[in-house]
Amino acid sequence: MILIVDDSPQNIISLKEVLEINHFIVDTASSGQEALKKVLKKSYILIILDVQMPGMDGFEVAEAISGYSKAKDTAIIFLSAVNTDIKYITKGYSSGGLDYITKPVDIDVLLLKVKTFYKIYEQNQKLNNMQNSLLEEIEFRKDAERKKDEFISIVSHELKTPLTSIKGYLQVLERSIDQSDAATVKTRLNKVQQQVEKLNVLVADLLDISKIESGRLKFNLNYFSFDNLLDNILDVMEQAYPDFKIVRNGLAGQNIFGDEMRIEQVILNFITNAIKYSPGTKEIQTFVNLCDDKIYFSVKDFGIGMSKEHQQKVFNKFYRVEETSHRFQGLGLGLFICENVIKGHNGTIGVVSKQGEGSEFYFYIPIHPSTDKK
Ligand code: ATP
Ligand code: MG
Repeated sequence: MILIVDDSPQNIISLKEVLEINHFIVDTASSGQEALKKVLKKSYILIILDVQMPGMDGFEVAEAISGYSKAKDTAIIFLSAVNTDIKYITKGYSSGGLDYITKPVDIDVLLLKVKTFYKIYEQNQKLNNMQNSLLEEIEFRKDAERKKDEFISIVSHELKTPLTSIKGYLQVLERSIDQSDAATVKTRLNKVQQQVEKLNVLVADLLDISKIESGRLKFNLNYFSFDNLLDNILDVMEQAYPDFKIVRNGLAGQNIFGDEMRIEQVILNFITNAIKYSPGTKEIQTFVNLCDDKIYFSVKDFGIGMSKEHQQKVFNKFYRVEETSHRFQGLGLGLFICENVIKGHNGTIGVVSKQGEGSEFYFYIPIHPSTDKK
């Protein structure tokens, strides 16, 4: 937008008309003070400024504007009487472009200058945008670098914890063997096994992530019994977590098409999360349902739950709810892997949760391959 500042209404009208015919948007001010007020409120690409005005003259206006951050890219064309000493023009104004035209105004020259300033403005905008996106990119990369470092230190820590316990158990195990205490040997071996299993899951998750990243997560698709799979999983989970009651609701009642091991991985992730994030509770619920050739499965807990904001992000890679991350161990990979597995089955994954009341994680997947539907 252009601002014309002139104390003579005739000058304003004629200039405004010419500029508007040439598709410029024009605003006007009839004094220096009025111009300053407008510049404070709006951004102008160009100000056409009469030098000789009663009260504040054009140079004073330009000097004042030079201090406004809003006008830092605004150019000024002075309209001056023939003999005005041009050297004053640059005084105090260094931000935008400057030029002058002597009165009486040659409209063609004025239009040419206006167009030039617009072009410069547009180029400046482009440069600014480019600079901004470069700065954003730099910030993004710095952030990614920081996240990577953080990730490496978390992974090392997560790997170190079971390793340290294994080392400890092996030392005491040696002692129990020396004392030929078979019962203690057995319990300690069991502990070692549990820690090895933890390591195994961690490493498997990390490998899955690298497969997902490079698009190498492949599925071994076949028809399998969802009900049998769930029975087996629940048996194992009940043995591993004897304090938890895992209630089973509903049946699939028919075979479904998918990668059984990957679906098992999703169900296990849902259940282990439900148990992990529900300290002090004793029950979780599972639901199975068949509807419109899709199988629905969900795990509902009565644990810490989470806010809406977190619900949208928990499926992101490495995302963990900050406020609770120090209480619970994890890498923030489980749900990211689940989402990729479910998407690989043309399904949907989601969560319904309320902070302090609990969460229900669910997925839907088609029970037949898409080509079977014909
Ligand atoms: P891991 O990689 O070992 O699974 P994790 O459990 O932190 O680590 P995800 O399973 O991806 O990672 O879960 C991401 C985050 O979502 C968790 O850190 C936790 O904050 C939140 N979350 C997941 N399940 C639940 C749940 N049932 N109740 C409350 N919060 C949950
Ligand atoms: Mg998890």
